[in-house]
Amino acid sequence: MQKNTIPFVAAASDRHSAGWVKVLQNALPEERIIAFKDLNEDDKQTATMAIVANPNPDDLRQLPRLVWVQSVWAGVERLVSDLGNTGLKIVRLVDPQMAETMSEAVLAWTLYLHRNMPAYAQQQRQLIWQEHPYIRPQRKNVGLLGLGALGTASARRLVAAGFQVCGWSRTTKSLPGVECYSGMAELDVMLAKTDILVCLVPLTSETRGLLDKERFAHLRHGASLINFARGAVINDDDLRAALDSGAIDHAVLDVFTREPLPTDQWQWKHPRVTVLPHCTAPTDRETGSMIVADNIRRYRATGNLPACVDTGRGY
Ligand code: NAP
Repeated sequence: MQKNTIPFVAAASDRHSAGWVKVLQNALPEERIIAFKDLNEDDKQTATMAIVANPNPDDLRQLPRLVWVQSVWAGVERLVSDLGNTGLKIVRLVDPQMAETMSEAVLAWTLYLHRNMPAYAQQQRQLIWQEHPYIRPQRKNVGLLGLGALGTASARRLVAAGFQVCGWSRTTKSLPGVECYSGMAELDVMLAKTDILVCLVPLTSETRGLLDKERFAHLRHGASLINFARGAVINDDDLRAALDSGAIDHAVLDVFTREPLPTDQWQWKHPRVTVLPHCTAPTDRETGSMIVADNIRRYRATGNLPACVDTGRGY
């Protein structure tokens, strides 16, 4: 039987393209997975779906019968802005392994802040022997912005570790052991209780610049911040001012408005900032490919698309 061709369309600079094609081909032996640059004209004219990793939209325009794209990343703000008005359906990667990896990182860096590791590291550099009082996790409140695939898994781990956990989402949620808040009206109520704020909301028109001086003013004085979502959710100037004044004690930042973070940016050297190189929850190619393969098999068998991104909402 003739195999269907599925283009794999990645950014030209993507060093992992060949690796992706190989692992996707192993997961989907009944299809032909071909890197965009290797497609012939017939492949381009017949493809109805493509697998994408930060694709150049001009490449996708060369595939006139395309109905949907399956991203191998969880965050889709670039796809939404590039393709939002084309009618092309966007499917993002929702992989339980990624939720596991992210929740592990959320717990690890929450413990880092909870157990005063930034302060002890600083003290060692200054040869200072000084013990900080121990506070049980039951007396610390972790606030999660976003209770989606990653936020929900993170909440579960934080609850199991003994923290008081609250979470905020757009629509009302109910999660065991989590005090749930929703909508802008309830955000400041949650912030007022929060000792460690963990950001896991997607970047959309509503969340861009969400964490600014007004929101920081509602946080408990000396609270800490973890941003594992997208850099532009935070107003960087306002964060810097909050760190300089001590209103925010420490920020663990994995994501930035510009990545890689340019070496002249203040975050690198700020004593109250831990910089991570967007490493908290990378896509696992093996498990991610299995999820993609399942989605494509179901589509071939039924014609039904997996759950698509709501481009109006932005996620
Ligand atoms: P998701 O399942 O779509 O969940 C998003 C959550 O954010 C939902 O709870 C949603 O509310 C909430 N939300 C969205 N807009 C909101 C608003 N305006 N007000 C209040 N809540 C809002 O997304 P996910 O899979 O958990 O991923 C979250 C983000 O993590 C991704 O978009 C990506 O940017 C980032 N990420 C980072 C890494 C990394 O390595 N640093 C890795 C993967 C993903 P509802 O539940 O009401 O819809």
